Amino acid sequence: MSEAPRIRVLPIQTANKIAAGEVVDRPASVVKELMENALDAGAGQIDVAVTAGGRKLIRVSDDGHGMGREDALLAVERHATSKISAVDDIERIATLGFRGEALAAIASVSRFLLETCARGEPVGTALAINGGQRQDVQETGCPHGTCISVRDLFFNVPARRKFLRTQQTELFHIRDTFIVQALAHPETGMSLTVDGRETYRLPQGDDLASRIRLLFGPDLLRRMVAVAGTGADAVAVTGLVSLPSASRTDRNEQYVFVNGRPVAAALLSYAIHQGYAGSLAKGRHPSVFLFLEMPPEHVDVNVHPTKKEVRFRHAGRVRDAVIAALQQALAGKHAATAGAAPPFEDLSRFPGTPAPAAAAQQPLHIPDLPPARAFQIPHMPPDQQRERPPGGSPPPPAPETASSGAGSQAPWKWCRVVGQVCGRYVVLETGDGMVMMDPRAAHERVLYEQFSAALHDGSVPTQPLLIPETVELTRRDAQRLRRHAALLTEMGFGLSEFGADSYVVDALPACLAATAATRLIESILEALDEAGGRGDRAWWQEQLARGVCRAAVAHDQVLSLQELEQLVVDLARCEMPYTSPSGRPTLILTSLQELNRKFGRT
Ligand code: ADP
Ligand code: MG
Repeated sequence: MSEAPRIRVLPIQTANKIAAGEVVDRPASVVKELMENALDAGAGQIDVAVTAGGRKLIRVSDDGHGMGREDALLAVERHATSKISAVDDIERIATLGFRGEALAAIASVSRFLLETCARGEPVGTALAINGGQRQDVQETGCPHGTCISVRDLFFNVPARRKFLRTQQTELFHIRDTFIVQALAHPETGMSLTVDGRETYRLPQGDDLASRIRLLFGPDLLRRMVAVAGTGADAVAVTGLVSLPSASRTDRNEQYVFVNGRPVAAALLSYAIHQGYAGSLAKGRHPSVFLFLEMPPEHVDVNVHPTKKEVRFRHAGRVRDAVIAALQQALAGKHAATAGAAPPFEDLSRFPGTPAPAAAAQQPLHIPDLPPARAFQIPHMPPDQQRERPPGGSPPPPAPETASSGAGSQAPWKWCRVVGQVCGRYVVLETGDGMVMMDPRAAHERVLYEQFSAALHDGSVPTQPLLIPETVELTRRDAQRLRRHAALLTEMGFGLSEFGADSYVVDALPACLAATAATRLIESILEALDEAGGRGDRAWWQEQLARGVCRAAVAHDQVLSLQELEQLVVDLARCEMPYTSPSGRPTLILTSLQELNRKFGRT
């Protein structure tokens, strides 16, 4: 006697319920799917309401094209979609949805009500489904568009319900989902109502900047710069990103969209990190709102049911486009800054900015200052040269254009080294007021950029030393140096082994020729040691550059006027003069206006 078969085909409701787990795992995913459907339907306005963290009710209504009765009935069937008809269509997908799963899945795990009315139709359709069982279909009078109410999510899947977090946590995810959609579609009006209270109302026809202002507050916006770049293979990168000085300790404000779709990809995090390389301290992260556009066939969005992960056909080009666009934006090559605050002004917010006048009584004495000279940043275009004050005499009042900074990223148009105070900080007078400079941070920046620029140009010019320097190393450092000798030679170091653990250095990269060889080699070995690991060529170069800048002058080294002036000129030529490669401020600016205010003169 044969046994009864063990294998059974699951009833459709059960199959839907299981599949629902992939698409809807918490209230926020319902919000996401419904908002995406509304966007796909061409909505100009989308209103979201939730109660009890989305457990009791999630309602999303839109003024999109709506559905006729037939479509409404089909919409809740599994694999029913109006958005593709063949697999190949996915390659060119322009809508957010295409799998035809969401409504069926949501309806199978909730008490679901769909009310919809197609444009031009006199009556609408109301369709109620309870845990996947159709209850009722009726004609109904409703405005054009669609309203979907999802009640008692997971009422029939206790296992799921148990895994829901507190209302606050679920609400946090819902809010995040809402924000992501709001950023991706600034042109669409949106509102979010939580337990009867409107939390966000975002007008139609917004742009990204005003969305950020409404969602994150005006402060963030003031500290952002615009990104606009096109890489190889028609990868366009636009958006707004924070200045290095506005970094944060988490990555919570990093939003990346590919062809309008919010995505997470490790590749993109890496690219963002690289784009800021050399301007952020360890453990600091920028806020970024980046929009990548590329031909739809170059990105695979069908990797995961929630479509959050994507794969790029030309991953390397995407990465490079992002890095280049960020670097360009941060180097100040794009004059446009959101909220119209140039990086210059932003520096006043650095930690370490002098607190409002806590004037201690200082003994007065006339300092023995070197003769003050005013000088120009040599690379300024000639039409600005006229501002040059006559040598030695006080500079003329700053013309109105002085603070615009447009076209040049130099932090000042002219400046005069007043002197070094406390044996440490350097005081400068500029067209805009007064600047305090940390010579070590400044020198780190200069070395870093000069060396990186030389690396970037491919061949690092090398300069023979008049007197070769012998560098004695510990056994361990000597081994390490041996391992990296080829790389260093390629970067312009002239090295030869000399006895057991010593090296003779007879040439240095030209831009570093003024630095003591021993100090340089030690700094580099230290940096390579700390960095550990392995990486690609660019990674090694970055580590090298970081090592190089450790050889900068000591924080409290007293410098000659000539050295100070050279440093000031070199710093002004840097692409990112405001921070050291590890993110410390190089300059603290105090405008004349601020001084006037503090002295009570307006
Ligand atoms: P998908 O979005 O992947 O096509 P869904 O299950 O989310 O699958 O939706 C099924 C179909 O229902 C969609 O293809 C669309 O035709 C229709 N639909 C869903 N939501 C709306 C809406 N808000 N307005 C108009 N049509 C909708
Ligand atoms: Mg959908």
